[in-house]
Amino acid sequence: MKQKKARGQLIVLSGPSGVGKSTVISELLSERSDIYFSVSFTTRAPRVGEADGVNYHFVTREQFEEMIARNDLLEYAEYVHNYYGTSLRLIQEKLEQGIDVLLDIEVQGAAKVKTRCPEAVLIFIVPPSFEELSRRLHGRATDLEEVIQGRLTKAREEYQEIPNYDYLVVNDKVSEAAAEIIAILTAEDCRTNNRLHLVEGI
Ligand code: 5GP
Repeated sequence: MKQKKARGQLIVLSGPSGVGKSTVISELLSERSDIYFSVSFTTRAPRVGEADGVNYHFVTREQFEEMIARNDLLEYAEYVHNYYGTSLRLIQEKLEQGIDVLLDIEVQGAAKVKTRCPEAVLIFIVPPSFEELSRRLHGRATDLEEVIQGRLTKAREEYQEIPNYDYLVVNDKVSEAAAEIIAILTAEDCRTNNRLHLVEGI
């Protein structure tokens, strides 16, 4: 049986647009339903099929700036002209209850989390190759070539941050990528620091 932890693990997942991160996250959460997925706040408009409070909390720029001023956010970043941020209170409550919390955030936010919470585990997801990323982005027939090129440029910038991550997962097959993340989380749980209470008093 899984040991109840004194404090949950903060898990940060980043990866370029088009890598299939949401699919990997869905697969991961279906296997590990005990993980709490942090729903971020954003000023971008909802996409078709997205619901408020499920994919994001959709807010105005003014509301977001109030949250910044009140120090409500663990981290936030401006990404392609919109704000994205993580509520500090919501995730703190879960971590204190011993629940693992998953953040799907971009590289600037991930760096801020690492500074504020050095115990967080940072995982970066890449496609098998850059050519494959380009293929996947072109496969979403809805986007203009200009938008796709912008995403590929952004991805190149994001790749520069990979050395700051603890783990690198290649999303070739979704089930395998999710299995690798589960293996990482199992290893993190087994860290001596998380288990010392099991051998106390001997
Ligand atoms: P999208 O608009 O495609 O949903 O997300 C764009 C980027 O924002 C993705 O890389 C996603 O990981 C990132 N993102 C989502 N929520 C947050 C957040 O709360 N903070 C930060 N820093 N990035 C986020």
